[in-house]
Amino acid sequence: MDISLVIQFIIDLLAVLLLALGIKGLSKVKSAREANRLAAFAMFLSVIGLLSYYLGTSGITLQSWIWIIIGSFMGSAFGMILAKKVPMTSMPETVALFNGCGGMSSLLVALGVVLFPTNDEGINFFQSLIEIISISVSIFVGAITFSGSIVAMAKLQGWLSTPAWTQSKIRHFLNISFAIISVVAFFNLIQDTNISAISLLVISSTVLGIGVTLPIGGADMPVVISLLNSYSGIAAAAAGFVVGSQLLIVAGAMVGAAGLILTQVMCKGMNRSLISVLFGGTLASKSKNSSSGGEYTNITSCSVEECALTLEAANKVIIVPGYGLAVAQAQHTLREVTKILEQNDIEVCYAIHPVAGRMPGHMNVLLAEADVPYEQLKEMDIVNPDFPATDVVLVLGANDVVNPQAKSDKSSPLYGMPVLDVQEARTVFVIKRGMSAGYSGIKNDLFDLPNTSMVFGDAKKVLSELMTELKELGVGVK
Ligand code: NAP
Repeated sequence: MDISLVIQFIIDLLAVLLLALGIKGLSKVKSAREANRLAAFAMFLSVIGLLSYYLGTSGITLQSWIWIIIGSFMGSAFGMILAKKVPMTSMPETVALFNGCGGMSSLLVALGVVLFPTNDEGINFFQSLIEIISISVSIFVGAITFSGSIVAMAKLQGWLSTPAWTQSKIRHFLNISFAIISVVAFFNLIQDTNISAISLLVISSTVLGIGVTLPIGGADMPVVISLLNSYSGIAAAAAGFVVGSQLLIVAGAMVGAAGLILTQVMCKGMNRSLISVLFGGTLASKSKNSSSGGEYTNITSCSVEECALTLEAANKVIIVPGYGLAVAQAQHTLREVTKILEQNDIEVCYAIHPVAGRMPGHMNVLLAEADVPYEQLKEMDIVNPDFPATDVVLVLGANDVVNPQAKSDKSSPLYGMPVLDVQEARTVFVIKRGMSAGYSGIKNDLFDLPNTSMVFGDAKKVLSELMTELKELGVGVK
């Protein structure tokens, strides 16, 4: 038996187990960091396994080794630098870019195998049929994932806007046309491996990826990103069949399934169906047509000092973090403020809406970065019954996720979206810079309610002023 094959099998098996453990650990905030490291280590192991296999076989030249090492080094360095430098607010763009890289890798692997075939002797009809189907799936899904993810990243980054014509029905006609061309090229490639079918499949799938993603509005883009994440998993699993890698098949299938589940969770959290996200155009155009706009009539604003005085007298405080908190990078200052409150025996917890921020888990990651204890983070369904017994709610740079219109106004684009019932609390302070709308672009009825006071200013600035005020009042000094 070939010893290098045995070593690779054992390393691969270990890597699959570690990867499965890592993915399981990601489901809990507490274990997520370690789990992420474990999954990364599993991937590193699989690269080592593959290289050790090649080391044991004579078919690889020194030049190829140099390319493999340069490629691995450059990829790792690029990933590390990007992950370290990217601000929390740009996570969705980064995830989109990584998905795009995954799709491109699967596409390139499949192209490499089909354009530079190795000796196929001993392969029976079914094996070669499975191989060519896997190659075609890899090219098709990989190209869609790559082009779609790059468009998604460019749109989130603000480099690309939604062209007006893409909101018309023409886009459906064009997309269906490219889908049909892709399917024809797909079956042509399965019947006969020829360069025209390969080129047609690559081009039509790439254009299809652009055509499907371009019309989608910014608000729905993270849903599309998680769907593309799932596609990148499917493409990777297909590439796993192409190169005969069990690890790639398992990892790809897990990513594919996880991406689909996440897409479903996000659609539910935003009260959107996947069909309406993919084919319904932008949410902004709907908001303009809705009757949920209008002027504010009963806004009460107050100073940081008044807010501090109310907090001083509170027994129970709930913090509602939103996208504005991430923009202001105010998580550390917030943690300092809550520490002061806790020192005064005030009960503090954080209400986490599933789609607060710009991607799922955005707020958990942000607060974990500031060492907020995990047990203080409460999911929407758990925390909603607590609001009536809460003295003060601090809404920090959140808007849509606390809009009562979602429950009361049937004409609102937010109607049906599950929201945090902050209006049930005794006093609500909303900290934001002005009266701008949130992501949905509509008015927030919460701001007009008699128990709501606006504290205008950048979240970080207001929180540091609040900290000073609380200290001056003697809160937290025992
Ligand atoms: P939001 O509705 O977008 O509101 C954020 C608010 O933050 C804005 O009203 C803004 O008002 C304020 N803000 C911005 N910069 C600030 C700063 N430096 N200091 C203080 N406030 C600041 O945010 P959200 O309540 O978190 O809701 C998330 C929205 O994103 C939902 O509509 C959700 O459906 C959507 N979305 C989320 C996901 C996801 O997976 N999480 C995915 C797709 C879409 P001012 O400009 O007046 O300050």
